[in-house]
This record gives sequence, structure tokens and C-alpha cells, in this order.
Amino acid sequence: MKYQPVIGLEVHVQLLTDTKIFCGCSTMFGAEPNSQTCPVCLGLPGALPVLNKKVVEFAIKAGLSTNCSITPRSIFARKNYFYPDLPKGYQISQFEDPICQHGWLDIKVNEQDLKRIGITRIHMEEDAGKLVHGELSGRADDSGVDLNRACTPLLEVVSEPDLRSSDEAVVYLKQLHQIVTWLGICDGNMEEGSFRCDANVSVMPVGSSTLGTRAEIKNVNSFKFVKQAIEYEIQRQIDLIEDGGTVVQETRLFDPNSGTTRSMRSKEEAHDYRYFPDPDLVPLVISDQWIERSRQELPELPEQRQHRFMTELGLPLYDAEVLTASRALADYFEAGVAAHGNAKLIGNWIMGEITRALNDSGTSIEACPVAPGQLAELLKLIDNGTISGKIAKTVFDEMWRSGKAAQAIVEEQGLVQVSDSSAIETIIDEIMAANAGQVEEYRGGKEKVFGFFVGQVMKASKGKANPSVVNELLLNKLKG
Ligand code: ADP
Ligand code: MG
Ligand code: ZN
Repeated sequence: MKYQPVIGLEVHVQLLTDTKIFCGCSTMFGAEPNSQTCPVCLGLPGALPVLNKKVVEFAIKAGLSTNCSITPRSIFARKNYFYPDLPKGYQISQFEDPICQHGWLDIKVNEQDLKRIGITRIHMEEDAGKLVHGELSGRADDSGVDLNRACTPLLEVVSEPDLRSSDEAVVYLKQLHQIVTWLGICDGNMEEGSFRCDANVSVMPVGSSTLGTRAEIKNVNSFKFVKQAIEYEIQRQIDLIEDGGTVVQETRLFDPNSGTTRSMRSKEEAHDYRYFPDPDLVPLVISDQWIERSRQELPELPEQRQHRFMTELGLPLYDAEVLTASRALADYFEAGVAAHGNAKLIGNWIMGEITRALNDSGTSIEACPVAPGQLAELLKLIDNGTISGKIAKTVFDEMWRSGKAAQAIVEEQGLVQVSDSSAIETIIDEIMAANAGQVEEYRGGKEKVFGFFVGQVMKASKGKANPSVVNELLLNKLKG
């Protein structure tokens, strides 16, 4: 039998607010344990939560960017469960009437085709604290609770079960990741858990319209692991069914070391969260004006920008996609185009030299030592024939290292391109004299040798000879 996998993702997005969702404590990462706490996030009796407006603004932006409708009157709810990292004994979340509902993302399933993935809801909630082992007292057998993370704001983005393969799931996740980082509402750091995902996976016979029973894989924290975890889980369920077994609804954990998932708890052991509206928080009323203002404030989103790069600047789809990988990269590109004008050329340099240098040095585009204007100046030196494209790469490396302007480097190092025919002719004559055998070969019809001569001339001129002049003169001379 053939099986159809079905996947729905629940993504937790940690918000980049300075303070927590219901108190004024800092959200800064890495502080001394429990130093960023107050009666509210410690869950002391009688302390009252006050909603951080920034969290609502971020949630609205996320919702509008994923085609959701914004709920005019949304409610906070208590999700009750016991765990030592949750001092109140409940997490403040949203259950009925979450802030955003009924959205979608159009994901690229291949070069041309888009597939619409429904977004059921986006809700706001607080994070829990963290258990630490041996860190507080220094004794290895000690466990403690660090509540710095308690009350940190999260969005949970829940998709419809519309994804049909691990690849589609990864594309969806990457697109969502791109949107929240682009909006500047999340730093997107998956290793630190700022963007993490639970994957719900089921299989059904191909052609069936009844979804199979799902397993939920908790807290997968890289794109690679999401793909691995889903693929393993699909195969596990298929094998189970083929062996005459049935899939049970359960929560599973992914183990990155083995690439497998294992059961954590079954449906019977699942929590009954006893959700109810939080009496400490009034309903959140969001006016149409507020929504409109947020809509006005939205930046041009990755997809719109890609489209504009293609239609206005004539970039091919591939370039447009690469250059909108992040908002900072797209900004860099546009600043370069404003200073130079040849979008395709600027794009090539960013996707080539700049990306290589950023990767080699582990630098982000935000900290790129060569500013877009400086890159444009370099390219102008190629345009006006001062240097060759090849020399430009050497100059670029020096700009990267020293921060100097292209023109200054070219002057200092005497890199100006030699286009003067007589100087180049002299070099050609010397090389032809020294390689009489190859000259004969060429004249005897072995045209491949031409490349050898070009190489020799360029080498003798230390790369400074103008390649098109070299080509022209060489052709003439070799014909004899
Ligand atoms: P819960 O709150 O118990 O996790 P939800 O109904 O909110 O349950 O669903 C959570 C996620 O599971 C959603 O992303 C949804 O798309 C996905 N999902 C629901 N049913 C299935 C299924 N049969 N197979 C795969 N995913 C599913
Ligand atoms: Mg769930
Ligand atoms: Zn606090």
C-alpha cells in the first residue's frame, strides 16, 4: 500500500521585546540566574500581570504578514499544569479567541508552483523558567530553577495539517522564520531556542480523505532535525501499520544523535490543562485603527521585495530569492544598486565575493566591512577600464582587510590596468619567442593553445593587462 504523510507544525517564536510579557523585567539572555525576576514572574501570591503592549504589536504584525485576521476582542487563558519551572502552576496563554486566526502562507513547492498552507491561529503566551542541574550550588547532584526566562513573550503559530512531506514542512518553516526575522520581532536563533517547532505527523493511505492518528514530536530546534524527525516518524508509522499495528496518539521526542523519535507520553497520560479565562487579565480589545496603523508600519515583505527585484530591477528568480534571504541583505543590495545602477552586477558580487568573504570570516551582512557604496566604487573602476575584473577581486580582498577605498588601493599598489597596445605587444612578443613550439602547434590548427598564451601574458603582466586588448593582439600575432 502507498501512504500519504500529513504534517502540521506548531512553532514557538520568542519575541524580541526588551521586557517580559506581563512584567517589566528584562528579557536579556545569559544573566545571573534569577536576577531578572520580580513578584509577577516569580508567581508570588497577589502579584498581578500587566500586558506588554509591544507583544501585542508584534503579534499583530506577525498575523498581518501571514494573512490572518486579527481578533477584535481576544482573551488570555490559564493553562494549568504542574512543573517546577512554572511557579504559578499555570501558564498564561490563549485558548479560545487567540489574537490571530485563519491565515495562510503560500510556500514554494518547486520553481514555479505555490502551495497554500493554512495557519489556524497565532496566540501569545509566556515561556516557563528553566531547570538547571548543578549550576546554582556547584554541586552536581543539585537541581535548581532559573526563572529569568519565566514570562518571556512567545507567539505560537499553529498550521493546518496541510503539509504533505518533510520538504514542504521545511520550506514552510523557513518561510515563517524569514518573516519573523524580517519583521524584527524574533532573532530567529534556533540553537538558543528562539524559534522552535513541534511537528505533528500522521500517515494515511493514498487517496484517503480521513487523516490518520498523529504523533507530536516536541521541540525540534533546527531545519535539519525537523526534516530528519519527520522522515523517521513517517517511516516508523508506515512500518508499524504494515506490520499490522496501529499508530497511537502520543507525544514523542527526537534524538538528534540517533536520528530517531521515542515515546514521551501517550494520550492517556496527556495533561488535561483545564483551560479557563484568566480573571487577572481583561479581554484585549484591538481597534480597527490600531490594526490599520500596524498594517501601514509593515515593511515590504520578502515576497513583495523578490517580486520587485524581478520586475523593476530585472533580476532572475534565483538571484531575487538569494538577495532577499534577509532584510539586511536586501537593504545592502538596494543600497549598492542606488550607488551603481547595474543590479545584475551588484547582485553577482554580493552572491559571489561578498558572501564568500562573509562566510570565511563568520561575519553577518550587518557587519560587512565593505559598505555598499564602496563596492559600487570598486565596480565603477572595472566599468571605466581602470582595473580588470580579476584585479578587482584582489582589490576587494584588500578593501575587506584594510577598510580602504578601492581607488586608494589601486593607486598604492599600482594595479591600474594596462590597455596600452605597445606595452602588451612587447610582452606577447617575448612570450611567443620563448614558446616557439606552442606557436607552431597553434598555427598547425591546435586552437586550444590560445588559452595558454592568454594565461602567460596575464601572468607576465601580473594580471594587469586588459584582457580584451590581450585577446585581440594575440589573435593577430599568432595568425602570423
Ligand atoms: P493540540 O493542541 O492537542 O496539539 P491541535 O488540534 O491544536 O492539537 O493540533 C495541533 C497541530 O496538529 C496542528 O498543527 C494541526 O495541523 C496538526 N494536526 C492535527 N491533526 C493532524 C493529523 N491527523 N496529522 C498531522 N497533523 C495533524
Ligand atoms: Mg500541540
Ligand atoms: Zn518579572
